[in-house]
Amino acid sequence: MDRTDQTTHFGFRDVPLSDKQTLVNDVFHSVAQRYDLMNDLMSAGLHRAWKDVMINALNPPRDERLFSLLDVAGGTGDIAFRAVRAAGPGFQATVCDINPDMLSVGRERAVARHLEHQVSFVEGNAEALAFPDRSFDAYTIAFGIRNVPRIDLALTEAFRVLKPGSRFLCLEFSTVDVPGLDRLYDMFSFKVIPQLGQAVTGDAESYQYLVESIRKFPKPNVFAEMIRAAGFLRVSHQTLSGGIVALHSGWRL
Ligand code: SAM
Repeated sequence: MDRTDQTTHFGFRDVPLSDKQTLVNDVFHSVAQRYDLMNDLMSAGLHRAWKDVMINALNPPRDERLFSLLDVAGGTGDIAFRAVRAAGPGFQATVCDINPDMLSVGRERAVARHLEHQVSFVEGNAEALAFPDRSFDAYTIAFGIRNVPRIDLALTEAFRVLKPGSRFLCLEFSTVDVPGLDRLYDMFSFKVIPQLGQAVTGDAESYQYLVESIRKFPKPNVFAEMIRAAGFLRVSHQTLSGGIVALHSGWRL
């Protein structure tokens, strides 16, 4: 099949692979201003605890040692800000995201927190990063990879830009595996979240996409294989909150 004929998922819809990124960009253009508020409302604040688990795993140096983090699909900067708080003065974060609206909210938040010197914001595509080989000490991506049309390319790029001996960490929604919780979670996802999205952002459709895209994301074991295929070693994952979320890890050794 010619690459231009390939299809992929945009939520539950099959769309041409070449259209997905534009559709995803429309979603985040629409929700950018209310993105952080919606995260708190949709997860009852739980996204903060999930992100903290990722920062604990990242474990940046607390002293003067230089450490550079690349946070891809970093949006409004949440992961980078949390990492700076946990790190010492040698820490630098680069937030890379394809969406200028998400980045501009992030830049404003960095200024408000006086973190502009430690956190920079760069527009770019996870599938083709504009950074040299072996240039970062860690790569994080939180709730971002399922939006990327060619996940295999994003993983290959993650491997390329990491220095040997450094870590890839990916936080993503996963598969709820607790009987009872799965039905409750489905009801909340499909009945409550789009309506909440409508009330807060005026856009139910974008939140319908977000919940559908979670269901279409590969199961943790399948995603772990994709991480291995990109070259990472010591690949592992842990599930959080009954499988709502999984933290994936791999090392470039
Ligand atoms: N990481 C942030 C967080 O946890 O709050 C933001 C996550 S948000 C759900 C997903 C982000 O992925 C959006 O900001 C979107 O613009 C970004 N994104 C989607 N496709 C991308 C791509 N191909 N390259 C880089 N970023 C992308």
